[in-house]
Amino acid sequence: MRKLTETKIVLASHNQGKLGEIQLLLLPFGVMCVSAGELSIDEPAETESTFSGNARIKAHYASRASGLPALSDDSGISVDALNGAPGVYTADWAETLGGRNFNLAMKRVWDKLEECDAPKPRLAQFNCTLCLAWPDGHDEIFAGVVPGQVIWPMRGKHGFGFDPVFQPDGYKKTFAEMLPEEKGPLTHRADAFTKLVAGCLD
Ligand code: IMP
Repeated sequence: MRKLTETKIVLASHNQGKLGEIQLLLLPFGVMCVSAGELSIDEPAETESTFSGNARIKAHYASRASGLPALSDDSGISVDALNGAPGVYTADWAETLGGRNFNLAMKRVWDKLEECDAPKPRLAQFNCTLCLAWPDGHDEIFAGVVPGQVIWPMRGKHGFGFDPVFQPDGYKKTFAEMLPEEKGPLTHRADAFTKLVAGCLD
């Protein structure tokens, strides 16, 4: 496994929610980070059908464009009663002609669960794959998961994406009812990051 010896990396995401969480996770390690947006690096098409495939596309694209190591995140929510949907396509379920609308995407998920009369609790998991890629083409991949259930109606104002309908196992609050410092360590992203630390930062 390759160690990260560089002191500056690019975060290969334009998602403000993800960027905030990854910056918090990186804070104790003294690695300076700059986002792809700040470097005017655009977003490549996510053409793969797996989290790791899309994470690789994003990290290699930003690393090639910046000449820096790049860290990407591909993530999504997989609902058991929907055979794992929306999964890799979580962001796509939010697409509308006027841009992404996650309130609509969450409603779509709940409506599908109602249509098939799925038993409660409606089990789901957030998955995250982090990819750390270097300009020479090398990469390392780390997967993380957090189990929980989809609830309705939405609760909470913090976080982003599907946070208002996801209640992690062992908690009575949704992710959106938690402050960033409470949600941060519980996430699929933190789970993957712990593995990245053990492999590349220790
Ligand atoms: P992608 O990785 O860019 O394909 O987008 C994944 C989508 O999954 C995001 O746009 C969010 O809607 C959702 N997602 C991923 N992680 C989280 C999270 O921690 N909370 C809420 N939604 C998330």
